[in-house]
Amino acid sequence: MLNSASFDLTGRVAVVTGGNGGIGRGIAMGLAQAGAAVAILGRNEDKNSRVLAELEAAGVRALAIAVDLTDRGALEPTFRNIETALGPVDILVNNAGIASISGGILQETPESWDGVMEIQLNAVFLLSKIAARAMAERKRGKIINIASMYSYFGSGLAPSYSAAKGAIVQLTKSMAVELAPHGIQVNAIAPGWIETDMTAPIRSEEMKEMNDEIITRTPTGRFGLPEEMAGPAVFLASSASDFVTGETLRVDGGYAIR
Ligand code: NDP
Repeated sequence: MLNSASFDLTGRVAVVTGGNGGIGRGIAMGLAQAGAAVAILGRNEDKNSRVLAELEAAGVRALAIAVDLTDRGALEPTFRNIETALGPVDILVNNAGIASISGGILQETPESWDGVMEIQLNAVFLLSKIAARAMAERKRGKIINIASMYSYFGSGLAPSYSAAKGAIVQLTKSMAVELAPHGIQVNAIAPGWIETDMTAPIRSEEMKEMNDEIITRTPTGRFGLPEEMAGPAVFLASSASDFVTGETLRVDGGYAIR
């Protein structure tokens, strides 16, 4: 029977990569408000400390670890540290990311391409592999990846970003197929245009034309707020979504429907 307990995350442990700002912070706070203990991973210690304080103020156990997720050797020890501090991980949100607005493949360097792929795709694969192994032993887990409108549309300005986000949708489906027998659901959220540091240049005066195009195309007529990613994330992290897997849920104010 569905009731508010179906969305309750009390007793669950969540990890949010890039949880120290933007969409990751919005999701981390939502999971905490639903009762989960939350670990956030990000490079910047000041941002980590600020969000850690907010999580603790929400009344949950919380942890912030300063880590560069492109450092492959750091992933396993980081995951073990979270388990030691908070307990077995039930929920992994692969959110951390960067975008390289290179101007297209004619301009994009191999180094820039690799940098985007390493955090937007390879880190998702590697951290999910570590988390899924532990979740499979306990026959329970939720993995949530962050896709994008550029999972669907081409980007002439940011081809590495678009390629990585397209791959996230297929990786989500592939992990969902593999991990379903182990009691693990894998889904993605595809945010539309959200007010974060990543989109700050687009909202500046210099890029007014692009900003106006986005607002005009979005039926809700505005950028989304990071907090608006929390509800969908709580749903996908909770038992209310136990029969949902391999799905990419658009949370875009309708941007993709026209
Ligand atoms: P922000 O730039 O605000 O946040 C990015 C987060 O990722 C920060 O917490 C940053 O922390 C972390 N991060 C980046 N690189 C690394 C790294 N190597 N190791 C550890 N942490 C890292 O961006 P958004 O909140 O906008 O983006 C979050 C996700 O949502 C990204 O995957 C993005 O592609 C996606 N997205 C965003 C949209 C938008 O409109 N904003 C739309 C669609 C998708 P730190 O710098 O401290 O390491």
